[in-house]
Amino acid sequence: KLDVFTFGETMVLFQPEQMLSLEYVHQFPKRIGGAESNVAIGLSRLGHSVGWFSKLGDDPFGRYIQKYIRGEDVDTSSCLFTDKAPTGLLFKEQLSPDDVNVYYYRKGSAASLIGPDDLNEEYIAQAKILHISGITPALSDSSYQAVMKAIEIAKKNDMKIVFDPNLRLKLWSVERAREVFIEIAASADIILPGLDEGQMMTGETEVEKVAEALMGDADKTIIIKLGSKGAYVHSKNEKAYVEGFPVKQIVDPVGAGDGFAAGIISGILRNEPLQTVVRRANAIGAMVVGTSGDVEGLPTFKAVEQFMTPTGEARD
Ligand code: ATP
Repeated sequence: KLDVFTFGETMVLFQPEQMLSLEYVHQFPKRIGGAESNVAIGLSRLGHSVGWFSKLGDDPFGRYIQKYIRGEDVDTSSCLFTDKAPTGLLFKEQLSPDDVNVYYYRKGSAASLIGPDDLNEEYIAQAKILHISGITPALSDSSYQAVMKAIEIAKKNDMKIVFDPNLRLKLWSVERAREVFIEIAASADIILPGLDEGQMMTGETEVEKVAEALMGDADKTIIIKLGSKGAYVHSKNEKAYVEGFPVKQIVDPVGAGDGFAAGIISGILRNEPLQTVVRRANAIGAMVVGTSGDVEGLPTFKAVEQFMTPTGEARD
């Protein structure tokens, strides 16, 4: 039995420790990178049962990714391996503290071959929540179709749908992304855009106007991420800014949004009041920002509760 199902592409990430052009770097430590698996790992640490699906290359990198994610107690039993395409790769180059470039080697990758027929309805329907990221439909036409199929399965089986747009302009045009995001958002129960993504989807500028436009006439929960300022939550009965937690030193901003999503989904599974849910998600985002790596900062439930208490905040 699963609490959450999510799917998408996780790549092998090569990120040198040196701040130097990749032209001159000789050593590349190997990690993994993928928004959906970050969310899955975050949820697993918070105590939930999560299924993550992907199509991986039948190669050492594909096996490495599956082992890593399985090692975090995420169910990877529905993953498929293919010899028709390799596992996607990603290189990160840091030239200065705030100048980071990403180089993808993922076009035509194994995960881009994900299609609607790869989804196992019986497996997915065990979950209470479907997490959709806006990266998966950007991979290829067949993976877009798979996202639509997953939404259909979720609707049929009374699952809640949580949508995190995760705009990646290296993968598709802003016009196509906008079209697809609006289509997915129409089916979602909870939408988690950054302010810039919300602005892109609605054409509005102000936080409250963006939330209103995303909600439309439907009964949805919109939670807009505002970086260090926390988040704005907008539902039928609630409209509130929920303050963020102070971060002593921003070590690595990447992955905050994924930790935030895991926090939101966890709180919903626990049936907590909306502001409590958002407050914990803010705390997780702050913890991720203060730690190097995408998944290293993701806390257990106990650790985030500790972080949120006044003494916890004062910790080094
Ligand atoms: P990502 O870089 O992972 O794509 P994002 O753009 O989706 O992130 P952000 O708004 O940067 O989302 O961060 C998500 C959440 O993490 C914020 O809503 C906030 O709660 C927390 N957070 C992010 N940055 C900071 C910060 N500098 N200080 C405190 N909290 C932060």
